[in-house]
Amino acid sequence: MSGKPFNLSIGKRILLGFSIIILLYIGATLYGYIQMQDLRVHSQQVIPLSSQISELQEIGISLESLEKNVDKFFTVAYSENLEKANKDIDDLQGIIRSLENNSDNNSRARFKEMEGIFCEIREDINYLANLQQNRMNAKEINEKRILVYGLINNAKKKHRELLSETTHQLNANVLDQERIILAFNTQLLGLGFVILILGTVMSIIISSSISHPIKKLRTVTREIAHGNLNVKTGIQSNDEIGQLASAFDKMTEELQKTTISKRTLQTMLDSMPYGIIMIGMDDKKILKANLAALGMMGYGYEEEIAGLICNKVLCPAEDGKCPIIDLKQKVDKSEKILITKDGRRIPILKSVVCVNLAGREVLLEAFLDISERKQAEEALRQSEEKHRMLIENIQDGVFIIQDGVLQFVNEAFARMVGYTVEELTGREFREFIAPEDMEMVLDRYHRRLAGENVAREYEFRVLYRDGITRIIVNMNVGLIDYRGMVASMGTIKDITELKRADEIRIENQNLAYASRAKSEFLANMSHELRTPLNSILGFSELIKMNSSLDEKSLHHLDNVITSGKFLLNLINDILDLSKVESGKMELVIEKINVPSLIDGTLILIKEKASKQKIQLKNELDPSLLFMEADNQRFKQIMFNLLSNAVKFSKPEGGTITITAKKEGDMAKFSVSDTGIGIREEDMKKLFTEFEQLDSGITKKYGGSGLGLAITKRLVELHGGSLTAESKYGEGSTFTVTLPIIANKETRI
Ligand code: ADP
Repeated sequence: MSGKPFNLSIGKRILLGFSIIILLYIGATLYGYIQMQDLRVHSQQVIPLSSQISELQEIGISLESLEKNVDKFFTVAYSENLEKANKDIDDLQGIIRSLENNSDNNSRARFKEMEGIFCEIREDINYLANLQQNRMNAKEINEKRILVYGLINNAKKKHRELLSETTHQLNANVLDQERIILAFNTQLLGLGFVILILGTVMSIIISSSISHPIKKLRTVTREIAHGNLNVKTGIQSNDEIGQLASAFDKMTEELQKTTISKRTLQTMLDSMPYGIIMIGMDDKKILKANLAALGMMGYGYEEEIAGLICNKVLCPAEDGKCPIIDLKQKVDKSEKILITKDGRRIPILKSVVCVNLAGREVLLEAFLDISERKQAEEALRQSEEKHRMLIENIQDGVFIIQDGVLQFVNEAFARMVGYTVEELTGREFREFIAPEDMEMVLDRYHRRLAGENVAREYEFRVLYRDGITRIIVNMNVGLIDYRGMVASMGTIKDITELKRADEIRIENQNLAYASRAKSEFLANMSHELRTPLNSILGFSELIKMNSSLDEKSLHHLDNVITSGKFLLNLINDILDLSKVESGKMELVIEKINVPSLIDGTLILIKEKASKQKIQLKNELDPSLLFMEADNQRFKQIMFNLLSNAVKFSKPEGGTITITAKKEGDMAKFSVSDTGIGIREEDMKKLFTEFEQLDSGITKKYGGSGLGLAITKRLVELHGGSLTAESKYGEGSTFTVTLPIIANKETRI
């Protein structure tokens, strides 16, 4: 502040300005006065000088008169003119004396000289006058005459000198005065100009130092009036305007503080998730609305909504009767409807209170959009309805029990115990438990109620209305809150059939287990049997080679060998079958050439077939050249089917056709014969082990009844299937379908 040039009060500043101007004026006046003094000195000199000049002029006149009189004195008459001349000299001396008194030393000396000259002239004239009376001294008279004229001339000369000197002095004085006046005028003009400039500058500075902050104040006031409180005057001077400005700034600050809190309030209102609206109680017009309210109602600006009558948008259902304004309630909390700008109706939950806002009674309404809740309630109602229907229509019995008494049952439950739903409500649950399970069920039920961790699910037998136990149920029960108290809710499922099926399943499992045990036993036994049988056959063949045996013994030995071979075949078949059944049969999958495999198999039965007048045919698909299978087992499959076809051919012979076809990923092999065929009722026994269809035929044809069973299992082991078609008396077709590329599981 110290750096400011005009850090004074405005009054002082103006005073200072005036003082400076007055001082300047006084200075100028003083200067003028001094200059005037000088001028006065000069002008004072003018009067004596001019009177001196006029006296000098008089001297000149007197001198001329003196000269004339002296002339007359010399030429005409002395005595007459002497007086005149003396008078002239008296006059001259009188003038000179008065001049002497008023002149400076220098002039005075001159006047004295002149006076002396005139004295001399007087003396000389008077002397001459005396002389003339004598007429004797003409020479002296002449000399005196010359002298007198000389004196007069001298006086004239002196007079001229003085006159010119005085005139010169007067002129100089006048010139001086002119010069002084001119200089003074110039200086006064300059000073006036300086004062003018200074005054102008000062008044500009002073006025701007006053008007500028006043202008600022005016701008700030306007801003404040327009509601902008972020303004500051920026005036820092110490004067009255400065104080006014700082008072202004303070006032703005205070205003700002209070306004900020208003703003905070607005922000708070806007940040609230529910709509808030203020309504004037006197005219029911909306005054204010927060953002949430505007958003809910579909308005963009507060101005759009302000002024609307509240019950046109907020509670249109009411016929203009406001619970607070008209019915004089203190608070109103209720569900109402809100009408949006575009006419949608939104359910709201609102709470209204009356507040006093700046002396005005205002309704403060806070409301929440409850359409989602309403929808949820509707959805819940629907879902409850759905659940109720579901529970009603469910096959399981549903119940709720509290303190052992049935509170709710569904149709299914009622059906299971033989009552109607209405009859059951209020009855004890234990009435429907068979006596033999009562203890177990109640024990679990109580333990569960006591909070013990017992299984939710258990089974018990149900006591029907007539006191007979018919069904067994599985109960699943849990605890729920029912009308504010603990209750058990559960389902009972009729598992009577399931239980029976379960029992059968277990039986089947046991059977399968036994069958596998049997297969394992057979496999082991067959293995044990094969070794001694092979040695029996071996030794029998050896004995047969001995030619010393008689016919009978040889016949017996042949019987031994045939029976042994049959037994070995049977054992091999049993071994294969049990191997398959016990899961011990392992396939060796390799790429096989289909035509050569079939040829190789046909060779084995060719001789037998031709003996029985059977014609062998094959129809092989040329595109089925290779496939993946266990070579040995595949041969066994084809051999079994072919040998059956030969075996069960008609006595007169027939045809056996082998076809091989490619069908997608599968290879289809069929063996058709024109043999005796199979009865329809026997078809399903076909693949059962040890099953021969006709004992008569079997005896005639031989065999163990294992071939097809093994064949089927071997085919299945390859991931394929075996089917049979037959017409009794006409022939049979057995079809093997195998994957061309072996399944992964069948590979080793
Ligand atoms: P077997 O070793 O007795 O031949 P299979 O399991 O091979 O045992 O056959 C079972 C029965 O199926 C045979 O006893 C026979 O009655 C009947 N069978 C099998 N193949 C044919 C066929 N090609 N024609 C007529 N019947 C057949």
